[in-house]
Amino acid sequence: MTDRPIEEEVRVLKPRRAAPADAVRPTRAEISLTALRHNLRVVKNALHQEQGPSPAVWGVLKADAYGHGAPAVARTLERAGIDGLCVALLEEGVELREAGLELPIIVMGGYYGPHHRGLEDALAHRLTPVLYERGQVERLRHIASTQPELSPSGERVNFHLKVDTGMARLGASPSELRELFDEVVGSPGLSLSGLMSHFATADDPDPSGAMVQLARFRAVAQDLAARGLEPKQLHIANSAGALRFPNARLDATRIGLALYGIEPCPLGDTGPELRPTMRVRTEVVAMRTLADGDRVGYGHTWTAVGERRIATVPIGYADGLSRALSNRGHMLLRGQRVPIVGIVSMDLTTIDVTEVPGAALGDEVVVLGAQENERITAEEIAEHMRTIPWEVVTSISRRVPRFYREP
Ligand SMILES: *Cc1c(COP(=O)(O)O)cnc(C)c1O
Repeated sequence: MTDRPIEEEVRVLKPRRAAPADAVRPTRAEISLTALRHNLRVVKNALHQEQGPSPAVWGVLKADAYGHGAPAVARTLERAGIDGLCVALLEEGVELREAGLELPIIVMGGYYGPHHRGLEDALAHRLTPVLYERGQVERLRHIASTQPELSPSGERVNFHLKVDTGMARLGASPSELRELFDEVVGSPGLSLSGLMSHFATADDPDPSGAMVQLARFRAVAQDLAARGLEPKQLHIANSAGALRFPNARLDATRIGLALYGIEPCPLGDTGPELRPTMRVRTEVVAMRTLADGDRVGYGHTWTAVGERRIATVPIGYADGLSRALSNRGHMLLRGQRVPIVGIVSMDLTTIDVTEVPGAALGDEVVVLGAQENERITAEEIAEHMRTIPWEVVTSISRRVPRFYREP
């Protein structure tokens, strides 16, 4: 067996710790835990059902809680009464357990390594695996029967099945899933506690695609029930699906983006009033006055017209400030929008502060979020990047230290 070399390699590949909180560079991401709690509250209110039980709200904390820092976000949500957490990777779930989280945690990504060996790790950390292949179910059954110490107090091992209702990415097709049922029915050590799927077009103004997926999902759940399998948790909705479609809320909802205060799609006047949780700020570290015709930055892509005041800020594309913002994006200084001029480089960016009276060394510069009455949203940055706000927040890199603020 090659176990040892692989483990040694894994040790070498362990991620370095995030930027230390005492980093001297003034560039930081400030995470508002108050806004996070507010967003959980308004999402819960929005999903509240007048009749029948309201759906459980699970926080989606994959990718280091969308760049906010998973352990702190998880602890805050746990204390604020969230019902459970979802991560994409096994190692993301392990990180949360090692941070002391007690909530149910679902590993949605369904990848447990060669021969599904990671499933043991999942059970040892009381993580709920999502499965969609026969080999995975067989492996889980084998573990449950041979390592009873991995099942909580002799109970059966919980898992969820994932059905592909139209995303065509991960999950068993409805017909493959029906074949898996027999495997599950014949497994005394296992308990199918959930059935999940995922919307491909929940944010599309046209709801028909999501409704087709929902109908397929319900059909699979009915087939399960006919076999005597009635998972307690049927779940299909992400933020957009849960907020837009009451009939898609089912037993539980998987809420990512909305918790971080970003609308997953235009929700109109009836949508919850979300507050952005991440603010990225830095400070002016250099100032210079350019004469008419002087040029700025790599490639000399920007030329001063008349005399201009240029400020340099220590944040660049290695921090997750996209190069697509070169000569297009804005930052905030003394409550005013100022344009990014020249090319965003790896560590530094230049802004034109000519129009800001008194702009000086050490002034705070906001890259994402609010300053006085102005605001740079993730949506605005996403537009320049031709991407979605999810990518804007998950791109803020590890070398930007996260500071947690109340409020
Ligand atoms: C990321 C993810 C979610 C959360 O989506 P949001 O749009 O951010 O709410 C839910 N379910 C699955 C399977 C996901 O991968």
